[in-house]
Order: sequence, then C-alpha cells, then structure tokens
Amino acid sequence: MHGLMMNMPLMISALLKHADQNHGDAEIVSRTVEGGIHRYTYRAAHQRCRRLANALRALGVQPGERVATLAWNGYRHFEIYFAVSGMGAVMHTINPRLFPEQLVYIVNHAEDSYVFFDLTFLPLVEALADKSPKVKGWVAMTDREHMPQSKVKLLCYEELLAAQSDDYEWPVFDENTASSLCYTSGTTGNPKGVLYSHRSTILHAYGAALPDALNMSARDCVLPVVPMFHVNAWSIPYSGALTGCKIVFPGPQLDGKSVYELFEQEKVSLSAGVPTVWMGLLAHMKQNGLRFSTLKRTVIGGSACPPAMIRSFQDEYGVQVLHAWGMTEMSPLGTVTTFKLKHDGMSKAEREALQYKQGRVIFGVEMKIVDDGGKDLPWDGTAFGNLMVRGPWITSGYFKAEGGNPLKDGWFPTGDVATIDADGYMQITDRSKDVIKSGGEWISSIDLENLAVAHPAVQEAAVIGVRHPKWDERPLLIVVKKKDAQVTKEELLKFYEGKIAKWWMPDDVAFVDSLPHTATGKLLKTKLREDFLNYKLPSA
Ligand code: AMP
Repeated sequence: MHGLMMNMPLMISALLKHADQNHGDAEIVSRTVEGGIHRYTYRAAHQRCRRLANALRALGVQPGERVATLAWNGYRHFEIYFAVSGMGAVMHTINPRLFPEQLVYIVNHAEDSYVFFDLTFLPLVEALADKSPKVKGWVAMTDREHMPQSKVKLLCYEELLAAQSDDYEWPVFDENTASSLCYTSGTTGNPKGVLYSHRSTILHAYGAALPDALNMSARDCVLPVVPMFHVNAWSIPYSGALTGCKIVFPGPQLDGKSVYELFEQEKVSLSAGVPTVWMGLLAHMKQNGLRFSTLKRTVIGGSACPPAMIRSFQDEYGVQVLHAWGMTEMSPLGTVTTFKLKHDGMSKAEREALQYKQGRVIFGVEMKIVDDGGKDLPWDGTAFGNLMVRGPWITSGYFKAEGGNPLKDGWFPTGDVATIDADGYMQITDRSKDVIKSGGEWISSIDLENLAVAHPAVQEAAVIGVRHPKWDERPLLIVVKKKDAQVTKEELLKFYEGKIAKWWMPDDVAFVDSLPHTATGKLLKTKLREDFLNYKLPSA
C-alpha cells in the first residue's frame, strides 16, 4: 500500500521561493570584484534570478544544457546557481585555479554553451575563447560601466538582466534531473565530472544544515570562505536559502585581513573553509592582537585540520571547530565531528582527541572500511582500511561515463584509508596512494604531518614515502619553516620522540621554501614524489 502523501519533486528553485516568502528581508552581502560592498535580500535575489532565467531563455539555453561559471563567491554567482538549475539547465562551476590545459579540457568536455565570468578571469577567458568552439557566449558578470575592452566578444550580465522582466514561473520536473556539475581536481589523469541532481542537492542541503552537521539556522550569519567553485561551497548557498540565514560572500579577497574585517563588520557567526585559509587568518590575528566578537563556529575540511589549528581556534579565540570530511563525489559532506551526550564529562584532552577525527556520518551517508580483499573491518578505532560510502548524494558514476563504473558492489571507494571507532567516529589515516608502506606495514603520512606542524617553527609540512633498499619505503619529512624561525633536522626529529612508534620516525628532514598544492589547496604529493624521486636517505 502506498502512503497518501503528496508527491512533490524536490526542486532547487523551491529553496529560493521558500527564502523569499519566509526570509524575504534576510540579507545577502557581497564584497564585489569591482570594489565595495553589495547588499540586498533573498527577495531581491529571487527577483533577479527570475530575470536571469528569462535572459537565459532568450539566449536559447535549453534544459540539460551546461552553463558555466568562472567566478568568486558573490551575489551574481548565487543568482546563476539558482537561475540555471531552476530553469532546468546544468550549472557548471569551473575551478579557475586549475591549469590552463585542464580548463580547456573541462569546458570542452562539459560542452558549456555559455560561460559567466568575474572580471578577474578575463585573461583566462581570452586564453580559452579560441580553444572552446562550443561556447556560444562569454558573459562578464558586471555592469556596462565596468565592461572591459577585449579581443573576445563579451556579453554584459547587467544588460542581459535589464532587458528582461521578472515575470517567470519556475518549471517543475523530475527531481532526478541534473542540476549542477563539478569536476574533481584529481592529482592524476584528466578531471572527471560529478553530476548532481535536484534531489541529491536538496537532500544534501537538509543534511548539511542539521545541528550535528554545519548547524545552520535563521539566527546565523554565514560566510563561506570555501569557494562556490569548490563543490558548491559545501552547500552553503543551498542550505542558506533553506534556513534563511544571512549570507556574506567574501569575493576575491581571501587573505586574513580582508576575511577578518568582513567577519567583524557583518557580525558573522559561522564560517567554513580549508586549513590553508585559516592559517592566513590565524597568523593575521596573532600578529595584530585581534579577537573575534561574533564568530562562534567554523567548519574546517577539504584536508585534515591540524590539531594545533583546532586548539588555536578553540582555546585562544573561543571558536568551536567543526572538523568535516567529504569529497566532490559526495556533494561533498560525509562526516562532521560533533560530540554526543555521553561525552559531556570528558576531559579537554579527550574531547580534542575526538575532534582530530573526521567525525560521524550525517544521516543519508553509509560508510564501511574494508581490507584489500574487500572484507569488512571492525569498528574498533584501530583497524584501518579502504573507506567505502553510499547514499543518495553520492555519485554513481562520472559524467559521460568517464573512467567506467567506479562502484564496487554498490559502494563508492573514496580512495581514503580510515579507522572507525565503536561510536562511529571515522578518522582518515591517509589517502590510499599516500600511505607509506614500510616493510609491509603502513605508516600514516597525515599523522606525521600533523605532529610536525605542532612545532612552533614549522609553517607547513609534508611527509612522503621515499624508496628504501631494505624497507621498500621510508618516511621523509619535508618542511617549510615559519618566517624568521630557526630549527634543525635533529630538533624536529626529537620533537617526534614519545609521540609515535619508533619505526614511524622519519628517516630524514628536507627544508624547502614552499610546498606544491592542487587547485583546491591540498598538498600535491605526486609532485613531491617526483621532486624527491632520487632522494637518498641517510639510512639507505
Ligand atoms: P575533493 O573532492 O577535492 O574535495 O577531495 C576529497 C578528498 O579530500 C577526500 O577524499 C580526502 O582525501 C580529502 N579530505 C577532505 N576532507 C578531509 C579531512 N577533513 N581530513 C582529511 N582529508 C580530507
């Protein structure tokens, strides 16, 4: 027997209608590329989204067609998010930090028909234009006054909107229709497209807003530092409209000073970003003796949050850290570390130790760890194996079936290696490609990196496996020192003593000026392994 509930498809446009109707005066504030602050409401945003939908229709955009963005976090990007998906087309966020060849590949692979871009990215557009034959138009996200001179024929965003009425009814269609597309910035091979649907996006937006996830509500002011081109800014635009919170978009300026000023001016209560950004912010705060007056929580994910960063936020600044883990293939949220009732009496050290873990799953995500033969491993907090996930916001395969079927018995292999404890808290011990295999045993490069950055002289650290005649691989610690700091190899190795098993001790330390990163700010270990391919360890 079927239940007798209405069968209403889950539509992204419904989020915006809801925000307009119920939180019409809640603000969306943006620092703009042109300079200055732009301020309006969900109601005004909804009106402009309807104009934009009409403009897209006038340009001939069809359902299913890909419309791309090369843009920072800002109100026009927000409008494109809702108008493109809302009208039935596919919003494709391009990561402008990818290498030029990868960008050309992505635009052509996605067959984008229009590309909307912030003025910062005009040089990229000019480099892409004659290599992207399928693109029918390049739209500068600005007004007539700020339109640049260019060899490429450009359309003007504000002119497109001004030519249209705001009379537009959002269509209702199958909730499984594709809504947006984001390419993974894999460290090897061509990027692969992850294609989200209206249904997956709405379910994920509900999940992300939950108290034990990002904990967003109509009483929050949320500033996503995480870019809207990095897996939908971890759902903040969608969960923002769902909850009716105030949103503050930081635009192109993501340095510590600019972000701090916006936190204070707009009274931000919640933020989210990758560790690299927070490193800059914390350094700025320390140098200038600053305090947060409204920030209560911050989500840190994308790569492991160093324990020193958790302590700094919580002990020095009274800001709760929500350590989160996810992937482009997972929309992205999988787990977040928050406490349970039974943790109330825990010591500070025990609570911190729990926060180093990547956390518990949000309902909707199932996970398990398996050995190389696919056998389930116990949830005991020590056994570590390949982390597998499944759920309604996890990919079932890549765009245009690139790479074949990625699933194993219906589970998506994350490529991460993890432990899960009896309470369901998962901890990443490594990427399966980065784990150091020494004499048949595994050493976690992430553990060694986290310990190294807790040293006061260390700015950033990476640990890779280097070839060893006896052990196959041994760990090499590669360090960027803090400005003006002095530290020797011996001092760093001594710092590990008593904190790790003896055989985990790095065999050597190399000092470098900087470390290579991927377009989303993760350590690029493939490059490091190339650079140190012939490195001779003193023990070899
Ligand atoms: P991306 O799809 O670019 O967001 O990359 C996803 C990958 O980032 C995951 O598979 C993890 O390897 C890594 N990652 C994300 N969040 C964390 C975290 N909190 N700790 C450790 N690794 C993380």
